[in-house]
Amino acid sequence: MIDLQFSSSFACNLLNSSMRRFFAVRSSKWNENGPWRIPLVCYTLEHKLAFLEREHYLTGHYSVRGIVHDWEKPFLYLCPWIDSEKKIQEMHRRFSPHHVGCPKTSKVEHLIEMYIDWDCAAITKPDKPLNAFETLVHFYPEYINVMLPVCLVFDIEAVKPRIYLHPWHKLVKEPEYNREIFAKVCLTLNHIIETLPQTRNDFRKITGKYQKLRNITLCSPAEIFILTLKKQQESLGIDIDMEKLRQLLKEVRNGFFIRKIFTHCPHDEIAHNCKKVKKYPFAV
Ligand SMILES: [Zn+2]
Ligand SMILES: [Zn+2]
Repeated sequence: MIDLQFSSSFACNLLNSSMRRFFAVRSSKWNENGPWRIPLVCYTLEHKLAFLEREHYLTGHYSVRGIVHDWEKPFLYLCPWIDSEKKIQEMHRRFSPHHVGCPKTSKVEHLIEMYIDWDCAAITKPDKPLNAFETLVHFYPEYINVMLPVCLVFDIEAVKPRIYLHPWHKLVKEPEYNREIFAKVCLTLNHIIETLPQTRNDFRKITGKYQKLRNITLCSPAEIFILTLKKQQESLGIDIDMEKLRQLLKEVRNGFFIRKIFTHCPHDEIAHNCKKVKKYPFAV
């Protein structure tokens, strides 16, 4: 039920709506020492609109999972007996499988929800313009083997050595650390390319392993890549050109091989078009 999807014909202009402006005005009133409940309720609702638009742009659908994303947070912010927003964040992260560290993270849909959550953050936080790949290398490098495959499925163009770097982050301040994370991305990328399945039987084995393990985080990066790709293929209703896919993956790897560290590159602003679905580079 939660994995049901609604087609594009429902696409509506969520981010240019007066509802979004209403939430944005109120959420901007948040300040650390002032009243936080209503601004955070409004911020969460604005974030939910951004999530849905990004989900539609990337997958061509809205899903029930997307519609109920972070649903309990506004209610928790309004509970008078919970006196700190930090507690609410912690509670939410502990029980929501789309957050790193939640023990319930087990399905491919959880990883996709995590990816969209990261990728839409820049829409509501212009001061933190990180896309999903940049969020991964900045904040969750221990999850590169799980989430790099998902980044490659959804936005292969964003996986590159020149990315937005926060000036205050370790990636900028400690070149040795930067080199280490860069090497980890290269290694995982190489592993995905080298162990990509070749035959139909190999593909079937991956689906079988996932069904048996019932936990996607125990699969290898190449397996996570294939399982996410399969889901994306179903969502978009397309066929995948495996030759093109291998070629594009190798081009990404070549881009990494000629460098040793991540370097800074500023972003363009995200343009909104609620009807637009991202052109899929691996499609036939
Ligand atoms: Zn969340
Ligand atoms: Zn969220």
